[in-house]
Amino acid sequence: MIEFIQIGKSYSGTRVIDGLNLSIARGEFVVIIGPSGSGKSTLLKMINRMEDHDEGKILLGGEEIYKFKVRELRLRMGYAIQSVGLFPHWSVERNIATVPQMLGWSKDKIAQRVTELLQLFQLDPEQYRGRYPHQLSGGQQQRIGVARALAADPDVLLMDEPFGALDPATRSALQLEMKRVHQVSGKTIVMVTHDIDEALLLATKIVLLDQGRVVQQGSPLQLLAAPANDFVVDFVGRSDRGIKLLSLKPAVALARAQAAVAGPSLPPETTLREAVSFMTVHHIAQVNVLDSAGQHAGVVHAADIFAQGT
Ligand code: ADP
Repeated sequence: MIEFIQIGKSYSGTRVIDGLNLSIARGEFVVIIGPSGSGKSTLLKMINRMEDHDEGKILLGGEEIYKFKVRELRLRMGYAIQSVGLFPHWSVERNIATVPQMLGWSKDKIAQRVTELLQLFQLDPEQYRGRYPHQLSGGQQQRIGVARALAADPDVLLMDEPFGALDPATRSALQLEMKRVHQVSGKTIVMVTHDIDEALLLATKIVLLDQGRVVQQGSPLQLLAAPANDFVVDFVGRSDRGIKLLSLKPAVALARAQAAVAGPSLPPETTLREAVSFMTVHHIAQVNVLDSAGQHAGVVHAADIFAQGT
């Protein structure tokens, strides 16, 4: 859906993106990560031409991006940033409706879309549509920022550190919400972050940048299990790479098919990491796991987890 072919970009003679190739398929959740100054925001902004590239080609649905009018491109892509940028004197409804209004949608269609989006972000439409940004918490403002970016049902959602300014609990709740929104909407999402845990949680594909080049791209599992070099190992967390790997795998996949043992049963979505944590806290070496129907699925053994290798 979006393709970067040998992209280069310089600011006053300094190369900040260097021979970059990247392919983003429809429906992917791509997370761009890397140290500060590695070119993450620049890469994102080239997609909706807030920055123009000076070498190579960017294709959108097979067409060179320069063929599109900038306005058309921006209307087709939602854009959400850390500082939210809600208009302070506009209600939530009017803020969300910014792009639909520019597109000339009818009043009814806009009202319906606002209701839908508030519901998607678990905010009661009647309670929130008339509020002003200062009457919302930081996390709620951020939800409205993302709802606004999604308002006109864009093909692509671009997000630059959208949760950067939030406290850890709100941030974590919004990450889970974003994961759900991606799953239900099937949108193509490209997000910049410097938080590796956020990337591991959300991405279908992680792109790790350093000095304007792709160091490695792949699924969270690929980056953790087969890091391309020491830079990747350090970036994903040298000391807790194994633990992070466990958090990507469901416990039920490793459960032995045997009758339930004495003691509690863990829910079906339990990861291996959570199972290890549970067994450690409760001083046990095996624990039951349920399947999605709530039936006994099998027994996870600590020894199997440590023997499986990563
Ligand atoms: P990141 O998002 O990874 O922190 P950026 O893409 O923002 O990195 O920046 C990459 C490099 O380009 C940095 O060295 C930054 O200082 C430089 N840069 C970004 N925007 C501009 C600009 N408008 N003018 C000059 N240099 C810029």
